[in-house]
Amino acid sequence: MKTWTVIELIEWTTKFFESSGILSARLDAELLLSHVLKKDRLQLYLGFDMPVFHPNLSAFRTLIKKRSNRVPISYLTNSREFMSLSFYVDERVLIPRPETEILVETVLGLQKTPCHILEIGTGSGAIAVSLAVNQPTWKIIATDISKAAVDVALHNAKLHQCKERITFLNGDLFEPVIELDVLKYDWIISNPPYIGTTDINELVTDVRDNEPEVALFAGCSGLDIIQRLIADTPEFLKPEGKLMLEISHNQSQQVQDLVNSNPAYTACNIIPDLSGIDRFILATV
Ligand code: SAM
Ligand code: GLN
Repeated sequence: MKTWTVIELIEWTTKFFESSGILSARLDAELLLSHVLKKDRLQLYLGFDMPVFHPNLSAFRTLIKKRSNRVPISYLTNSREFMSLSFYVDERVLIPRPETEILVETVLGLQKTPCHILEIGTGSGAIAVSLAVNQPTWKIIATDISKAAVDVALHNAKLHQCKERITFLNGDLFEPVIELDVLKYDWIISNPPYIGTTDINELVTDVRDNEPEVALFAGCSGLDIIQRLIADTPEFLKPEGKLMLEISHNQSQQVQDLVNSNPAYTACNIIPDLSGIDRFILATV
């Protein structure tokens, strides 16, 4: 039987992924082989001629098959980097997106004193955990309607040694925080589901067929959760407190209208992502 080397496996898999229509074929091949061999990509490059045997070979084959069926790489490697931290992810949570780092960086840049933060829809915990790691004196509460997501977020808080500084709660929007001692927050932040069910076919297969529906969709227009967050937030913010939300590329006008027509808000700014697309709303009460 043929003995496969690292470079032969990478080249074969790259061609196979290309023929399956996967755009990042070579990168994906390298990431999966790195994962199976428990080596980083530099180590793979230094060991191109190393043979790969069973059981690594069969583990790699299983992952190749899943990837060719469009399972995202991060679910196959159970890991995703966000704010330079490595997060555990699986099918229970949305894979954190690079643009969401702007939400975290904006809060870190504007907030100079210890504060109370409420994150709604924490998913993997990427936002709450990276805030807690960067600002150990802040008090953070993070909620999610998905109990399974709360379990993943708690796991990530443990991984990054900040579990004592984040309270994780399970429930619909503000419902789980009503009973808490902390009644008012300096910040309420969220990357809510914001895709309209009518736009389902615009999603790439990797996202549409694998990420949790509850993390992606919010009614026909995608605005159902955003609308509720804008309406309910003022009651939970301290004077001059801020609401920051990630929104879809085509929602900025409607979201500004929702904020501006609510007399509780005094200011509303739009923040673009790195491609210049209106991606966040920052509203002050
Ligand atoms: N914060 C994570 C991030 O940025 O990677 C996950 C964001 S994901 C787009 C949205 C999250 O909101 C999901 O984890 C989903 O379960 C949660 N969610 C959806 N509807 C919710 C609701 N009504 N109340 C609380 N959380 C909700
Ligand atoms: N930005 C994600 C996507 O385009 C969706 C995340 C969300 O709905 N908040 O797939």
